[in-house]
Amino acid sequence: MERSRILIVGGGFAGLECARRLERKLSPSEAEISLVTPFSYQLYLPLLPHVAAGVLTPQSVAVSLRRSLRRTHIVPGGAIGVDPSSKVCVVRKITDEVVAQKYDILVLAPGSVTRTFDIPGLTDYARGMKTLAEAAYVRDHVIAQLDLASATLDQRERESRLQFVVVGGGYAGTETAACLQRLTTAAALRYPRLDAKQIKWHLIDIAPKLMPELGDPLGEAALEVLRARGIEVSLGVSVAEVGAESVKFTDGRVIPCRTLIWTAGVAASPLIGTLDAETVRGRLAVTAEMRVPQFEGVFALGDAAAVPDLAKGDGAVCPPTAQHSARQGRVVADNVIASLRNQPLEPYYHKDLGLVVDLGGKDAVSKPLGVELRGVPAQLVARGYHLMAMRTNVAKFRVGTNWLLNATAGDDFVRTGFLARQPARLRDFEYTDAYLTKDQVKAHAQSLLAKG
Ligand SMILES: Cc1cc2nc3c(=O)[nH]c(=O)nc-3n(C[C@H](O)[C@H](O)[C@H](O)COP(=O)(O)OP(=O)(O)OC[C@H]3O[C@@H](n4cnc5c(N)ncnc54)[C@H](O)[C@@H]3O)c2cc1C
Repeated sequence: MERSRILIVGGGFAGLECARRLERKLSPSEAEISLVTPFSYQLYLPLLPHVAAGVLTPQSVAVSLRRSLRRTHIVPGGAIGVDPSSKVCVVRKITDEVVAQKYDILVLAPGSVTRTFDIPGLTDYARGMKTLAEAAYVRDHVIAQLDLASATLDQRERESRLQFVVVGGGYAGTETAACLQRLTTAAALRYPRLDAKQIKWHLIDIAPKLMPELGDPLGEAALEVLRARGIEVSLGVSVAEVGAESVKFTDGRVIPCRTLIWTAGVAASPLIGTLDAETVRGRLAVTAEMRVPQFEGVFALGDAAAVPDLAKGDGAVCPPTAQHSARQGRVVADNVIASLRNQPLEPYYHKDLGLVVDLGGKDAVSKPLGVELRGVPAQLVARGYHLMAMRTNVAKFRVGTNWLLNATAGDDFVRTGFLARQPARLRDFEYTDAYLTKDQVKAHAQSLLAKG
């Protein structure tokens, strides 16, 4: 009997869980499993703000795929188009060679990219918090601002280097602002020529509340922590214009500033746009079993797909969280196996477990299973949750020891300079320009198949 070819696109929360379960539950004689991934690690995104703040090293949040997977064939590259009519995924390898990957069953888990809006200067000057390189870049960039501010006698330059703006009052933006503010406060002690009072962090969001999903009391508690630390939180405000040395807010204020960190939401991977399929706010529309109804043998999940949230009902779709993505990965694996064995598929059902928000040090707010926690108990829950959710014991150990080391010895505020002269726009880090158009996909798929 010929083995089925299962192709997974994306080795993140959803893709990795799916591959692991397939390896466990399918015998090698039943199917060959391949994974297209540009990196050889699963990025533990919830701890990226800790990488930017230097609390964790970049390696500690990069969970090795080869340690987690035993027999999955890893294709080092990115999918740049899918042609379901010929069952081909067009892949650009990390060498830039373009190849066709044939599949019998396709699992699309390419995640999301930073969502941007049509704001003058945004795509040129905004930095994201979505990839490991971005987190490492932001850290270096922030430390560089302190170095340069300390070295200049020009008051205007100093002022613009010491103001930082984070846009997005969801958990990603709030954690990023909170963790980086702790970085600059601690670092200022090593800069005798800098007045720490001149360092100013702004957190802004167009919504009237921070992290509304936490509920009013915890949202207020987080706001109090941030304001007590001197972070200026402006709600109901967005960015009107960004320049190299200033940011203009929609309330008319112009902030001298050379650092804008943009975390105002995510959009499904541009790979979804290469398919001629129905979408819900850019995410691929799927059934509760995570099948793409238009195409035979195609499943989609995670941030890239609009998976119905049966626990909430009322036509809701699951929010783009790691909590959902990892669980969807396991259910998709079961459904892939069921479809190979001609068995009925299971719908995805998961009741949200709540949210943990780490504001750095002893500050946190969390709502596990509806219980509202703040301060040290919330922090213990947050860190315990992350350790449990990480895939390998080595990764858990690395993160645990990094936290301990940082809590006891602090940070050295080293600027590595690795990425200093790289283009650093969102599209440079997130490769959003790499994808084919719908028409190009078909042409590429046909010509690659003809070449064999
Ligand atoms: C700063 C931050 C903090 C967060 N905190 C939390 C939190 O506390 N709790 C929570 O539940 N969620 C959190 N999230 C959200 C969570 O990380 C995402 O919802 C989750 O990662 C989505 O899983 P996924 O598998 O769909 O995508 P990802 O985990 O992003 O994985 C997608 C994978 O696909 C790869 N890929 C992308 N494009 C292609 C392509 N074309 N071809 C092949 N591979 C591709 C990527 O490199 C990546 O490895 C946070 C997100 C951020 C950015």
